[in-house]
Amino acid sequence: MPDLLSLDATELAARIAAGAVTAEAATQAALDRAKATEARVGAYLLLDEAGALAAAREIDAARRAGKSPGPLAGVPVAIKDNIHVAGKPTTCASRMLQGFVAGYDATVTARLKAAGAVILGKTNLDEFAMGSSCENSALKQTRNPWDVSRVPGGSSGGSAAAVAARSAYLSLGSDTGGSIRLPASFTGLVGYKPGYGRVSRYGLVAFASSLDQIGPFARSVRDVALSLKVMAGRDAMDSTSHPAPVPDYPALLGNDLKGKRVGVVREYLDKLPNREVAGMCESAIARMKALGAEIVEITLPHADYGVQVYYVVASAEASSNLARFDGVRYGLRVPADNGIATYVATRGGGFGPEVKRRIMLGTFALSAGAYDEFYGRAARVRTLICRDFEQAFARCDLIATPCAPFPAFKAGEISDPLSMYLCDIYTIPASLAGLCALSLPVGFDSAGLPIGMHLSAPAYHDERLLSAAHALEQNLRADAALNLNRAPAV
Ligand code: GLN
Repeated sequence: MPDLLSLDATELAARIAAGAVTAEAATQAALDRAKATEARVGAYLLLDEAGALAAAREIDAARRAGKSPGPLAGVPVAIKDNIHVAGKPTTCASRMLQGFVAGYDATVTARLKAAGAVILGKTNLDEFAMGSSCENSALKQTRNPWDVSRVPGGSSGGSAAAVAARSAYLSLGSDTGGSIRLPASFTGLVGYKPGYGRVSRYGLVAFASSLDQIGPFARSVRDVALSLKVMAGRDAMDSTSHPAPVPDYPALLGNDLKGKRVGVVREYLDKLPNREVAGMCESAIARMKALGAEIVEITLPHADYGVQVYYVVASAEASSNLARFDGVRYGLRVPADNGIATYVATRGGGFGPEVKRRIMLGTFALSAGAYDEFYGRAARVRTLICRDFEQAFARCDLIATPCAPFPAFKAGEISDPLSMYLCDIYTIPASLAGLCALSLPVGFDSAGLPIGMHLSAPAYHDERLLSAAHALEQNLRADAALNLNRAPAV
């Protein structure tokens, strides 16, 4: 593996801007790496070799002509295949979108391109982002670069696997209940879910609109800060995007945690069956204390209902959002005798089993007889979870918990839907409350699998969260015994 591939995006962009490396060489290195690893990893649904190289050459030409390069000039980036890239298929890893080609760039895609990023291709996901292992893709199986018998996590498994395998420097995922943070923890990356409204969702295929956020996978917190600065901010095309000004995130990263109060839910750590995960999180929390933080015990009494609430709310919203796939407007059409029969044949043939389960669950939860008992009650409990966080954040600045109950599991190991849903037990509450949250790699278990810790802060305090995560990351990376700078052998 050439040295170029071990750089993070920030360092690569600096070298390209200085003329030490060309965008073309960086892009070629990522493409070559993809060719060497894809047979085992399967991160990409589309690798746009010609398009990426052409974009890279344009960036090099602009630089040579004296134009000042954008903050991500020449950095090869992969995009989850539920986010539009103009002129390329958006499949959502579903048969339902067969033949569909995006007519426009998502706002995040446009902002990345404007910053000089080179789009390498589109990555695999659980169908319509529903899943925790990437195994619900109808198109491809993606594996974890740290151990190819294991899953990369989901739903943004392809985006995680690409950056972990070093076939992209940065990637985008979407996170509704944990789909960026869970795969980041399974693949040893920093995975960031911005606070609700921080990043425009225009051009993201909607799953559950009160929860969906787009965010990056990166090798370092500073790369998250850099890409967030490029992507965040009000967008007239998404009325839920927030007008709060976008701080200069990379400039605000800290080196210590002095004066910061870190909330810890004692029960989560004490009761976690996987003691290696609990131990890694405990020692990361001890490091935060050594960096000057005050550790505060907090409780989130209603967060225990998060998974139940999420599967009612998210499925209800999904059943409504996915009604648009009717065999008329997008992608697949299975013709039958009349309109209704065509609709039934198309949806019956196009959606996979997990998506159908969510649509049925959500439709039921919104139906006249069940609405109040299911959707109404879930919405009320969601409010209680939000209040738990409000009360907790009155006493602390950040909350640290495990990100996942265990490291990456074997492909095929979890087959019942409920066990799969429980993978997101620690990530879902932050989604329900709209917090900004991330997974930070804190070590490897005895089998050599990466483990992530979950850190969260109130929405629009991204700089607080990133600054603290950066301080902890520097401390962790400086410890040779943890060996956090290693790359997978895939
Ligand atoms: N695993 C969760 C689900 O299946 C979360 C998915 C996501 O965040 N997109 O819904």
